[in-house]
Amino acid sequence: MKILVPVKRVVDYNVKVRVKSDGTGVDLDNVKMSMNPFDEIAVEEAVRLKEKGAATEVIAVSCGNTQCQETLRTALAIGADRAILVETNAELQPLAVAKLLKALVDREQPSLVILGKQAIDDDCNQTGQMLAALADMPQATFASEVQIAEHSAKVTREIDGGVETVVVRLPAVITTDLRLNEPRYVTLPNIMKAKKKKLEMITPEVLGVDVTPRIKTLKITEPKRRAAGVKIPDVCTLVTKLKNEAKVII
Ligand code: AMP
Repeated sequence: MKILVPVKRVVDYNVKVRVKSDGTGVDLDNVKMSMNPFDEIAVEEAVRLKEKGAATEVIAVSCGNTQCQETLRTALAIGADRAILVETNAELQPLAVAKLLKALVDREQPSLVILGKQAIDDDCNQTGQMLAALADMPQATFASEVQIAEHSAKVTREIDGGVETVVVRLPAVITTDLRLNEPRYVTLPNIMKAKKKKLEMITPEVLGVDVTPRIKTLKITEPKRRAAGVKIPDVCTLVTKLKNEAKVII
């Protein structure tokens, strides 16, 4: 059983993002980039399935610029067997990524595609669902537990107010939630081994996919700064302020 794991290169979660002064986007100059945290969980899950004998090959794939090779090397160091970079400098929106992944699904015929539930840069939470629709595969999103049987996967999903367990037939699309696993630390020997693993480079044109953006971003702005807090001497003042200033009680 092959598992395809799409990994996105995003601004590291510890970085405080800065909006460009002209409002056209986020400043990426000299900013630390990393693998999207939900994708690290996806790679970890795929590698664990391989270690348990439930999978035979884990293929990491990233769509984006040439620097995404670094992200793919990290996936290889976690334990993926080989990697594919769909190289492009074009802005990639979820529908374009889903189409590229669909083309790779047709080529690689994986039994499982494990994606992150969302990328922390655009917070779209769309790619896995769109891929499932395009490839006509069942989907189990927000997974917190995955058990593989011969022709199906039993997935526990995080939903509002609890968890839900579904069974999907394979091939299927699964997206990861935070509690699925805790990704391992990448060790130096594994980083060295990863350098020798195969990383194939292709382009959207080779896959026959038009990645032209469908959505135009008009403007990006910083969130409003929070006003400084104030200390109040007693409960009476608090109630007066809640009535007169915050207007949350009448
Ligand atoms: P999104 O729909 O943008 O929130 O992304 C959801 C998931 O789709 C991510 O966690 C990745 O697994 C995958 N994904 C999105 N964009 C890319 C990309 N450029 N390359 C590879 N995988 C991606």
